[in-house]
Amino acid sequence: MPATLLDLLSNSLVLHHTAPYLPVAATLALSRTSKSFRDLVLHTPDVFRYLDLSTVKSAVVPYTPIDIGGNNWRAERMDEALTEDEFYSGPLRGIFSKLERRHLLRNVQTLVLDGLSVPADLVREIIAEDRYSVRVLSIRDVKNLNERKLRQALNYAVRPSRPEGTPRLKALYVFGPRDSTPAEGPPKPTRSPPRIPTPSGVTTSQGAQIGAEWNEKSAQALTAALARTTDKWYQPAGRIFSKRPSYDWADTLQACEGIIYFDAVLCRGPRHSAPASSTSPAYAYPTQPQTYLRPAVASIALGSAGCATCGSCPETPAVFGQSPLTHLPLLSPPPLHASTIRAAQLPATLDGSPPPRLIVRCEDCLRGRWCERCNKWWDEDCYQGLPNSTRTELQQQEAIENMMAQLDSSYKRDVKVHMGLCIEKCYVSEMMAVTDGMWG
Ligand SMILES: [Zn+2]
Ligand SMILES: [Zn+2]
Ligand SMILES: [Zn+2]
Repeated sequence: MPATLLDLLSNSLVLHHTAPYLPVAATLALSRTSKSFRDLVLHTPDVFRYLDLSTVKSAVVPYTPIDIGGNNWRAERMDEALTEDEFYSGPLRGIFSKLERRHLLRNVQTLVLDGLSVPADLVREIIAEDRYSVRVLSIRDVKNLNERKLRQALNYAVRPSRPEGTPRLKALYVFGPRDSTPAEGPPKPTRSPPRIPTPSGVTTSQGAQIGAEWNEKSAQALTAALARTTDKWYQPAGRIFSKRPSYDWADTLQACEGIIYFDAVLCRGPRHSAPASSTSPAYAYPTQPQTYLRPAVASIALGSAGCATCGSCPETPAVFGQSPLTHLPLLSPPPLHASTIRAAQLPATLDGSPPPRLIVRCEDCLRGRWCERCNKWWDEDCYQGLPNSTRTELQQQEAIENMMAQLDSSYKRDVKVHMGLCIEKCYVSEMMAVTDGMWG
């Protein structure tokens, strides 16, 4: 007897590996084909463990409120009793109550709502209410989310007096961009590479464009190969987020530490250690007592190479499997086959080698010590930095230009980064380009 699809999917291992790839509509369609499939789909917890609603049309709020001519869209389109949040969460609430009626909602452990309309109240319910069992939640690039209310909900969920075993939520993806190809598994060969915008004046022939695309592609491939992983966090990728997370978010991350993990981490640069607790000599900077920095989200990925002088960093790089989980960000996309922190943090290396080192810092820590072009940087132990407060930007620039003109090597040695560029390579080439432009 040849194996049927039902036989195949009744194998729990096969089902476990197949279910996350099936769109929810296909899963439900399957359940309607026969009683056996219906039993399989509705009574195997694994089938709805991973639920990605980001591509489900009925999850989208049907129209966007546009206040044309001073008309209150709410008065026209909404029930009197409906709050704004309820209105915006309507489609998702509808889906959740359908799932709940079929006793499927409690099986959902990884929930992806990227790009949808997700008000903070809905997130609060997902975190707090017993009918949900969500452990990994992704709400990247969502609409109608009040971040302040979301932070309040998170702070409340992790309060010291919270009931034991709560919150069930362990992982929250909220900072990074949503994945462009949601959960399609291993990347397929690209059919038509995306066009790179060509500045006017540069040749726009197809050949030149393909050349530019391939240059871009090979640069990305080279960076990934050097970092041994395609994950941006582990590459010298520079700024990770399109919007820098606020200090309020840093406070929330600190409150949630060890309870809820994020697709971001706090910067561990030595200047964030409170002066009172800086007992370790490595963390004490007596020469710069005024430079204590408040907690901040690390938003700049520096790659594993470390400081350009010593090859490391005073806070020691984070390494998956060795460092505390709180030092590691959740990686994108949310894992398909397990709803655990470990699966979400594990960096996939290209050659199967051990996980690379993670060095990430906040913007404040790197001011004047990181080259935004080549990503070289110098840590606090190896470079004091310029006393920014005593000189204006203009005075600094003048001083540097004078020194450069005199080819004073001692000054070049003393100043490593100026205006976001490393002096030894990128600033010099920038200045030469400017000079060429003036005389050439
Ligand atoms: Zn160093
Ligand atoms: Zn920092
Ligand atoms: Zn540079």
